[in-house]
Amino acid sequence: MTVTWEELGWERVAAGVGRVRLPGWDCTAGLVVGAGAVLVIDAGSSLAEGARLRAWAEELGGSRVTHLALTHPHFDHVFGAAAFAGAEVFGAVGADTVPAEELRADAVRNGLDESAATEAADTLVRPRHLVSGEWTLDLGGGRQVLLANVGPGHTAHDLAVLVPGTPGGPGVPASPETVFCGDLVEESGEPQAGPDAMPSHWPAALDRLLELGGEDARYVPGHGAVVGAAFVRAQRDALAARFGVSR
Ligand SMILES: [Zn+2]
Repeated sequence: MTVTWEELGWERVAAGVGRVRLPGWDCTAGLVVGAGAVLVIDAGSSLAEGARLRAWAEELGGSRVTHLALTHPHFDHVFGAAAFAGAEVFGAVGADTVPAEELRADAVRNGLDESAATEAADTLVRPRHLVSGEWTLDLGGGRQVLLANVGPGHTAHDLAVLVPGTPGGPGVPASPETVFCGDLVEESGEPQAGPDAMPSHWPAALDRLLELGGEDARYVPGHGAVVGAAFVRAQRDALAARFGVSR
């Protein structure tokens, strides 16, 4: 008997696509299952959390984790990356330049245990593949995933992941497209704009997300429940108003 997504506390978003809301900062991590390949999206907030994620992903994906995509360089999304040894790591161009000490200090400020923060900063794994524009990952079995540098916005280095839907067949329902948005979209609270945010560019980044996914995609925010295009559009307008960006 194979274990189900729900049994491990994951939410299945589409066929072979899921996400989990991690404790602490309610940060989302995603999973896309291919044939003999498994993509994890974001790595959690510590080495221990990264190791837990990896174990879940390998159990649900039936293969070792081959690819890791980091949506942006904030501690709650990248500090577990060292737990994914052997995976090809992707990030937006420039995501590898944020000083580890900056991430460590931010983690401690946000309540991460100091020794866990120091361990993660000391062993920090940077993306080896830096995406400017778009990058197609082939996960086998006809599963292709698009990594898209849609920022800047929430940070100077925001990467989104588009997982195409699958057409239905006899006895098999069609599956919707999924867009992993990182923290460009937040559902559980107002989008967090820290000192590294690029507010004047943020609404345009959400326009690009909407172009990628279209009307019917399921949009997975960095924090909070899965939303639809209407929510993303409303958040785009709210950010434009908040930051005084005209259309
Ligand atoms: Zn963030």
